[in-house]
Amino acid sequence: APQHYDVVVIGSGGGGLAAAIQASEEGAKVAIVEKMPTIGGNTIKASVGMNAAETRFQKLKGIEDSKELFFNETLKGGKCKNNQQLLRQFVDQAPEAIEWLARHDIELNDITITGGMSIDRTHRPADRSAVGGFLISGLVKNINQREIEVLLETSVDEILCEKGVVIGVKVVDEYNDSRILHAKSVIVATGGFSANREMVVKYRPELDGFVTTNHKGATGSGIAMLQQIGAATVDMGEIQIHPTVEQTTSYLVSEAIRGGGAILVSQAGHRFYNEMETRDKVSAQIIALPEKSAWIVFDDRVRANNKAADEYIAKGFVVSAPTPYELAVKLNMDQESLQATLERYNQFVERQHDEDFGRQTALRHPLEKGPFFAIRIAPGVHHTMGGVTINTDAEVLDAQHQPIGGAWAAGEVVGGIHGANRIGGNAVADIIIFGILAGRNAATWALR
Ligand code: ADP
Repeated sequence: APQHYDVVVIGSGGGGLAAAIQASEEGAKVAIVEKMPTIGGNTIKASVGMNAAETRFQKLKGIEDSKELFFNETLKGGKCKNNQQLLRQFVDQAPEAIEWLARHDIELNDITITGGMSIDRTHRPADRSAVGGFLISGLVKNINQREIEVLLETSVDEILCEKGVVIGVKVVDEYNDSRILHAKSVIVATGGFSANREMVVKYRPELDGFVTTNHKGATGSGIAMLQQIGAATVDMGEIQIHPTVEQTTSYLVSEAIRGGGAILVSQAGHRFYNEMETRDKVSAQIIALPEKSAWIVFDDRVRANNKAADEYIAKGFVVSAPTPYELAVKLNMDQESLQATLERYNQFVERQHDEDFGRQTALRHPLEKGPFFAIRIAPGVHHTMGGVTINTDAEVLDAQHQPIGGAWAAGEVVGGIHGANRIGGNAVADIIIFGILAGRNAATWALR
């Protein structure tokens, strides 16, 4: 029997789940279709947090911030390539999205910082754990409470249109049976294409051979399906490599570790750059080193402030030692150099002034409390800034900038918001903000 819905959401990452919850709250009958056997997409791997300016939680901590500053720093980080209307919407809606999460029992009330930002505005869970798992489990609770249908191991392979308006999707399930789900609105929240090597290399040949931090469902299928029904794309060549990826596991070492006070050290035992610069710049500096890799070095105070650090230790890829001297021995690094590097950095912290590389943020405390830790890192493919074009209502646009009736998109599948370089903490903000918008507008359209 044919199945009829008001709204079908493709993808169960943070964007898809937020959209589904909002659409359901508007009164729509919603189904989520997910091709993988588990919920959470790449979002579940998100580490550092969610950026927003002028939030209640910032005010509670006495952090003064402004939307204007958040806008300008994101624009600068994106090399001014960002779609400014989408960025304006993003910045304006961010505090309300933080509140939306809090109302859904997902409170991000601790705050840290990421590269390219000048103020603590990256919201994360109170226990300072990685944001992804916390966010997805909280969203899933809401999905369950609302009894929203989730079809796992079911892949959408076509968006169906009649007279230019979306009427549903064709799905293929785990038994390879295909069927049609009728829907008045379709929200595409299929994520990016970092795990699709062919597609990455097509746009950026020099990235051949790089590892990716992404889950294997990040194949970009949503972009291709939307192109089939006339959607335009933007910035497809803008692919972010993340500077701190552990290469044997492809595990991302969260920016929260640097935000918590860690430094980057070359094999020769020297700092070589402002660790709190944007991801593109830090990555380029690591690639320029003779070994094309570096060590992220931190002390026990940094570890204690970031739950993720203990997770990395448990994974077995962290080198640790009671003193910097013994750490250097284990890293096969010149002991005097590492010792001198730490002493010099610690002086910069005392004076809150980095004479060597101009690091202005996260000069948190001297690195002096043993044990000391190091992880060998190098860049990996992390985020695809490009994607389909949308307007500020999350409607998918064609080449003439006209909305395609019934088609919405949110999250990494969308291009334009982050310009040429995404700031850490802006992906989670993006998926929640535009997920909510897409859910609300798709439901309104379906129920009109
Ligand atoms: P975002 O961060 O934008 O919300 P994620 O990458 O977290 O996106 O999640 C996207 C989800 O969409 C992933 O779980 C992925 O497996 C799923 N997905 C991608 N393509 C399809 C498809 N064609 N059909 C169903 N699910 C898909």
